[in-house]
Amino acid sequence: MNELTLLTDADDRARRYTESIPARRVFPDQAALQALAAFNEPLPARGHAPEDVLQMLDDIGSPGTVVSNGPRYFGFVIGAALPAAAAAERLMLAWDQCASSFDNSPVAATLERVAAGWVLDALDLPRESAVGFGTSATACTLSCLAAARRVLLARQGWDFDNDGLTGAPEVKVVVSELVHITVKKALRLLGFGMKNIVFAPVNHHGQVDAERLPALDDMTILCLQAGEVNTGEFDPFDMLIPQAKAAGAWVHVDAAFGLWARASSHAGLTKGIEGADSWTTDAHKWLNTPYDCAMAICRDSEALAAAMNSDAVYLSGARDAQKNLTLEFSRRARGIPVWAALRSLGREGVASMVNKHCALARRIAQGLEQAGFEILNRVTLNQILVRAHTDELTVAAREAVQASGEAWFGATVWEGRPAFRISVSSWRTTESDADALVELLTGIAERR
Ligand SMILES: *Cc1c(COP(=O)(O)O)cnc(C)c1O
Repeated sequence: MNELTLLTDADDRARRYTESIPARRVFPDQAALQALAAFNEPLPARGHAPEDVLQMLDDIGSPGTVVSNGPRYFGFVIGAALPAAAAAERLMLAWDQCASSFDNSPVAATLERVAAGWVLDALDLPRESAVGFGTSATACTLSCLAAARRVLLARQGWDFDNDGLTGAPEVKVVVSELVHITVKKALRLLGFGMKNIVFAPVNHHGQVDAERLPALDDMTILCLQAGEVNTGEFDPFDMLIPQAKAAGAWVHVDAAFGLWARASSHAGLTKGIEGADSWTTDAHKWLNTPYDCAMAICRDSEALAAAMNSDAVYLSGARDAQKNLTLEFSRRARGIPVWAALRSLGREGVASMVNKHCALARRIAQGLEQAGFEILNRVTLNQILVRAHTDELTVAAREAVQASGEAWFGATVWEGRPAFRISVSSWRTTESDADALVELLTGIAERR
């Protein structure tokens, strides 16, 4: 098979998979899981024909997928892949660009610059901000926090790049009690030390309590959150950020999915968020681009460019070249699917997708409440936090849904007791998918 025939074969297989999405089990059955063992073969001494490689991937791999790119996947906040973004990604694979700088890929540099501007526009964040396209909110948070610390130290006359941390003035970190684990990971990797982190108490909705905000000063990084993973709640930015800024602190917001509310009629939830210094958000979650695609956004563009700079003697890019804004030196043009998603949706399309998900979440919450489930959060966004009459039924109901293959959502623990959380974040999800989920859970509860 020549290259073009092989690629056509791959395209056909991808098309058949996409066609089959609505009918597929959401989570693989036992047979499909067991079949994955076929991949556990030793490294072949002599290579297989490319068409055999592809066939194995499809025959064994496709049935082993979680159909998170489908309408009835309600786990985490995974999102799906919008047609325009998925299609752009396919063309981009043929281009195989190294999107580190204009010299390496004029088209990637141009489109990522446009996408960056559109993101700031859609999210109404300071237009002068730098936008680095990274692999994940985790990596982008790490970049933003590295920039934050470098700036706070520089204000004390400390040259972090040359002198490092040994003997440096202490930079304190305050995070929400409900901080996402990946922010902790970024802080740990940066050497902040878990025992040094100060946790800001939250109220019963899960928002940082403005009355009980720990002391901040000009050597503090405050990490807030837009979209708590269980409840979808937002910290009260309009109360917290002015306090933090008055103290001279740096404010970073982990807005992995919640920031997209700002592009919808739920923008009020994000009031005051624009006052922060840096933000991270994912495109692969609520904007529904393919994985992996996230953004580090930093108001002081120079701060991010200086912290992440990787100019070399043989390769120096513009200050705002992507290799100077993210962890990667060589990278794919993950901003292109963002461009494609935004160009195909437009401002109105982003708003209506987010609005639709929030409305579907409320619909599911109402249906489950009628069926006797307890809704533990306010359902102001796309997240529903649910519990049944007993802890045993909560666990059993979730397991029964997962085993059914009809839908999927994950477990969590809320205030010390088991719960489950349902997230609506796929462009494919319709009212009938939402109703099907409610019916499924209602039936399970009635049978027990
Ligand atoms: C998913 C998520 C993250 C981590 O994002 P990745 O892109 O998976 O690294 C961080 N914070 C919140 C609130 C999230 O939902």
